[in-house]
Amino acid sequence: MENKINAHNSVLELIGNTPLVKLNRVAESFTGNFYAKVEAFNPGHSSKDRIAIHIIEEAERQGILKPGSTIIETTSGNTGFSIAMVSIIKGYECILAVSSKSSKDKIDMLRSMGAKVYVCPAHVAAEDPRSYYEVAKRLHKETKDSIYINQYFNKLNTDAHYRTTGPEIWKQTNGQITHLVACSGTGGTISGTAAYLKEQNPNVKIIGVDAFGSVLKKYHETGEFDANEIYPYRIEGLGKNLIPASTNFDVIDKFVKVTDEESAHTAREISRTEGMFVGYTSGAALQAIKQLNAEGEFNKNSNVVVIFPDHGSRYMSKVYSDQWMTDQGFFDTNSVESVQEVQF
Ligand code: PMP
Repeated sequence: MENKINAHNSVLELIGNTPLVKLNRVAESFTGNFYAKVEAFNPGHSSKDRIAIHIIEEAERQGILKPGSTIIETTSGNTGFSIAMVSIIKGYECILAVSSKSSKDKIDMLRSMGAKVYVCPAHVAAEDPRSYYEVAKRLHKETKDSIYINQYFNKLNTDAHYRTTGPEIWKQTNGQITHLVACSGTGGTISGTAAYLKEQNPNVKIIGVDAFGSVLKKYHETGEFDANEIYPYRIEGLGKNLIPASTNFDVIDKFVKVTDEESAHTAREISRTEGMFVGYTSGAALQAIKQLNAEGEFNKNSNVVVIFPDHGSRYMSKVYSDQWMTDQGFFDTNSVESVQEVQF
């Protein structure tokens, strides 16, 4: 008998097929059944592994990427981490232009994965030469044998979720999903997943989560880009100050806006009540569900799937820091949530 070693060839084989986990205590008072697609189980700890592998392997198939090529991207951190991870294993250079709003943990993590990181100011217009979009474009022009992933405008971003996240959720729910709630940044996750689910059952309701300070919800409702909607906010990876081509607004039924403060508290609540250590936007997504539940969106037969995009370890100096929460005015140091001193 052959003594086979039961091992994966590399961590790349572990991308996707993330678990769907029932939400218990955190959803106890809601009407309906709630399940989280926990994307932190990807080897790079976020849903962005799916797009990194898909876009890079598509470029390889087209002969655009060769050994030693450079991969360039703009990123709030997660996509960068995933691209850096795939680049290491496949032997590419990785250059990332990130927003100064990204947490220090994320930037340090990118550097530890071998990426070269350029930190660009967060609150400048997309067309400003200092913006991370413009910096990435310039680096792409200046670097020989480079590709620019451009996740906001790359249809393969959406395609990755159409091919993987959508079918996984359909199978995991046995086709019984009634609602999908997902954060929208590039819109790749929600658009690709929704396109697949709506093909199986056009009645699945697709709800996007947007931030106050972002243009997405208003654009969906009016078809107009309203610059007056734009102002700084703290959640990373959710909402946008431009209209991403990777978002298919037609498959989204409606958007819900959430605040920085409520999303931060809800992220902490998920960790405390479900034992799932999730990122800021997971809190935003569940916050949207709280609001939808209060509006009577669900009934007892609703099977609601919410996407939890990444892991809480990326937010130790933000949402999971009592000091940061206090500095934002999100709670006072005497609140029950803050650290309790133990007396010996
Ligand atoms: N949450 C986090 C933490 C993210 O980094 C992103 C990606 N920007 C999203 C949610 C939104 O995903 P998408 O870009 O596919 O809309």
